[in-house]
Amino acid sequence: MAENDDEEQRIRSVALENARQILTARNSAEENVRRQSEWLQITLDSIGDAVISTDAEGCVTFMNRVAENLSGWTQNEAAGHLLDEVFQLIHELSRQPVENPALRAIRGTIILGRANQEILIGRDGVERPIEGSAAPIKRDEGEIIGCVLVFRDMSDRQRLEQQVQKQLAGARFLASIVESSDDAIVSKSLDGIIQSWNKGAQRLFGYTAEQAIGRHISLIIPVDRLDEENRIQSLLRVGEHIEHYETIRQRSDGQRVDVSLTVSPILDEDGVVVGASKIARDITDRKRSEAALRDSETQLSDFFDNATVGLHWVGPDGIILRANQTELDLLGYSREEYVGQPISKFHADQSVIGDILKRLTSGETIANVEAPLCCKDGSIRYVLISSNVLFRNGKFIHSRCFTRDITDRKFAEEGLKENEQRMRLATEATAVGIWEWNVFTGQVRWDAQMFRIYGVPAKPNGIVDYADWSSAVLPEDLPRQEEILQETIRRLGSSSREFRIRRVDNRECRYIQCFEAVRTNSDGVAEWVVGTNLDITERKQSEEALRRLAADLSDSDRRKDEFLATLAHELRNPLAPIRNGLQVLELTNNCGEEAEQTRKMMERQLAQMIRLVDDLMDVSRISTGKVELQKKSLHLSEVINSAVETSRSLLEQMRHELTITLPEFPIVVEADFTRLAQVFLNLLNNAAKYSEPGSQIRITVERQASEVVVLVQDTGVGIASDQLPRIFDMFSQVDRSLEKSQGGLGIGLSLVRRLVELHGGSVEAKSEGFGKGSEFVVRLPAIMDTPVPSSELKDDQQSNLITPLRVLIVDDNRDSVTTLSMLLNLLGHKIHTAYDGEQALSAAREFRPDVILLDIGLPKLNGYDVCRKIREQPYGDRVVIIAQTGWGQPESRQKTSEAGFDHHMVKPLDTNALQKLLSDLNH
Ligand code: ADP
Repeated sequence: MAENDDEEQRIRSVALENARQILTARNSAEENVRRQSEWLQITLDSIGDAVISTDAEGCVTFMNRVAENLSGWTQNEAAGHLLDEVFQLIHELSRQPVENPALRAIRGTIILGRANQEILIGRDGVERPIEGSAAPIKRDEGEIIGCVLVFRDMSDRQRLEQQVQKQLAGARFLASIVESSDDAIVSKSLDGIIQSWNKGAQRLFGYTAEQAIGRHISLIIPVDRLDEENRIQSLLRVGEHIEHYETIRQRSDGQRVDVSLTVSPILDEDGVVVGASKIARDITDRKRSEAALRDSETQLSDFFDNATVGLHWVGPDGIILRANQTELDLLGYSREEYVGQPISKFHADQSVIGDILKRLTSGETIANVEAPLCCKDGSIRYVLISSNVLFRNGKFIHSRCFTRDITDRKFAEEGLKENEQRMRLATEATAVGIWEWNVFTGQVRWDAQMFRIYGVPAKPNGIVDYADWSSAVLPEDLPRQEEILQETIRRLGSSSREFRIRRVDNRECRYIQCFEAVRTNSDGVAEWVVGTNLDITERKQSEEALRRLAADLSDSDRRKDEFLATLAHELRNPLAPIRNGLQVLELTNNCGEEAEQTRKMMERQLAQMIRLVDDLMDVSRISTGKVELQKKSLHLSEVINSAVETSRSLLEQMRHELTITLPEFPIVVEADFTRLAQVFLNLLNNAAKYSEPGSQIRITVERQASEVVVLVQDTGVGIASDQLPRIFDMFSQVDRSLEKSQGGLGIGLSLVRRLVELHGGSVEAKSEGFGKGSEFVVRLPAIMDTPVPSSELKDDQQSNLITPLRVLIVDDNRDSVTTLSMLLNLLGHKIHTAYDGEQALSAAREFRPDVILLDIGLPKLNGYDVCRKIREQPYGDRVVIIAQTGWGQPESRQKTSEAGFDHHMVKPLDTNALQKLLSDLNH
């Protein structure tokens, strides 16, 4: 310790010595030196800077109080220590120790601290930035005896500087904020002169800072807003802040700009308003978007109210919040009746609305859910509902529902469905097949009916190849069909055609009627051909049959016309000789050989006429089914003989040679004698007529099993093969030329066939052609072989032996009455005549006839009534009354017998039959 004190003392004395030496150097008195030394000491202690001196080796020789405080060493402690032991200097950034400043200073003056960025680390470890200098201490002679360091702690100053720097930076920062602000920031003095003007202001108002600063603020205020500016001004004066005040300012180019202003008063230190700062924000965009928003809100509202689809909002509780007019109109409610009500109230199907609400609540969007709604008038309308919910922060705000009325469509759809159903049933019922052909892909699709029509097994998807169709069409029909099809596609039109196919399953040929139409795509190009097929085979066949029938009809019509011409001719033919004959009779006075021949000729002609008329009557009666056969078991040979007898005169006239071949045993048939005889007579007469005079005619009767076959053959003109099938048709004649006509009407063979058929047989004609003769084959059922007594035809000659009768002839046809009177007179009877019904009655009364030949169609009183009245008379039941009428049908016979007639004879009267009847009355 004593050593330390000594050291301190030594340092102090060295310092003092130094001081003293300094003082000595200035020639001061020693006392003065001491005092000065003390004073120096005090001075050094009192200055704010640290002062340290060292000797030439760099050991501390002096430290003032500041240096002691900074280093943490007392002078006594530090004296004699190397300076860098007492405190360390390190480099501020590298933190490396710096060479002892004393040693450096001894070599020359150095600057400490700031420039060299040196930091002093004190004994207490505290780092202090320092600033100062170190300089060598030299004797007068220039010898360096040490150095002195004068430095100060820069910590506070540095802090201050840093603070100032920070404040400066802050200010610069603020200035840059102001500059870089998007807003226009402007300050003005109280008298309205612009003081500051940032970039934002330049951008907003178009003036640069240079142009604006110093000008009056009205530079940017439109004239119509000056009053407003004055109001702001007065508010500012009383220190009011104005925030977000929206107004309009004017740009340098004259354009008006929407701004939001925040205006604040600027106060001086005493709180007096000296100016104002204005922050102006361009709100043009905001205004625009606000306007757009307003517009869109208006549009939304407009859309909502005027949408042609029903719209409503429903709250989370299911209550209707809003509804548009369309929806109200749809259901017929007023807004008051609808809005505020639970939506479910208007649903006819609660399960539907229940489901909709459930799905919406779970966040689902529903689309086109069909629902029936109740209208105010009690009707139901069907709608499609589409809806979703507006959620905000997960909260159900409301659901937005679109309601589209589909009632009409639904009914139309139902109608359509029904139509489709009807169509399907119709196509099924009409057996129409439907096909479609994609022109691009070549794909063909058939419906089930098409497969049925073509006889192809159906495919589930209906897809077939074009070849399925084309190969079914008859090859001769196909090219034309394809031509029409192509032409239809080219025209984009439709067509109808007919073709034949061969069915795949049974190879049957069928007629198909096809309709088709081209469907175009959106480019107007033919894409599809759609068509129908209908099997019209049956229709075709019936058309063909109809056509044939029509042809036949016209043929038979033609034949009928020809027949009438023939008939007229045939009837006129006998009339001429008869008329001539009458004259001959008159001239010959009815006597002599000539008269006799003439009478015979007239009889023949008359017989011919009667035969014609009989045939005609028969044909019509047979064809109307009015002939009833009087069948009996007969010997066929007798029937044939009868026919031959009747035909004999013609055969003889033509000098034909007739050969009859009969079987050994007689053949019996069940037949109507007269009718069957008529058959053979016709065949025989034809053979005679259509053969050259002197020809061979052959009748052969054969037994073939249970049948009898009668052949009537001739060697005459024969029949052309094409005529053979029609030879038995009514009015059919091979050669129509009247000149060549052999006196027939073309009904004989027709009668033959019908009569044979009525007998259960058949007839056929054969000929090897024109000029080769003909053969008619009649087949009849033969019933038995047992002999039957020959028919007992009485010899007509017997009728000549008669007893005269009193005969009353009643007829309005005077000729008929006269001729009949003459005939009966000649036969020896007593005749009385009458020409109407009343005359008939009186004649009957007066003449009292045995027999009355009474016509039915009489003037005044008809035959039935005359008959009835006579029967009422006392003499009436003794009289034989014979009806003579044009009608021979059973009904007519029935009527005459009911009226009281005894007999019924058909006009013209068969005189033989009449004679026979009269002679029977005699017996
Ligand atoms: P027609 O009154 O004309 O004889 P038919 O019905 O008896 O009428 O005969 C029809 C037609 O058949 C005759 O016109 C005749 O052309 C032909 N014909 C009938 N029989 C013969 C026959 N034996 N030989 C040739 N042709 C015949």
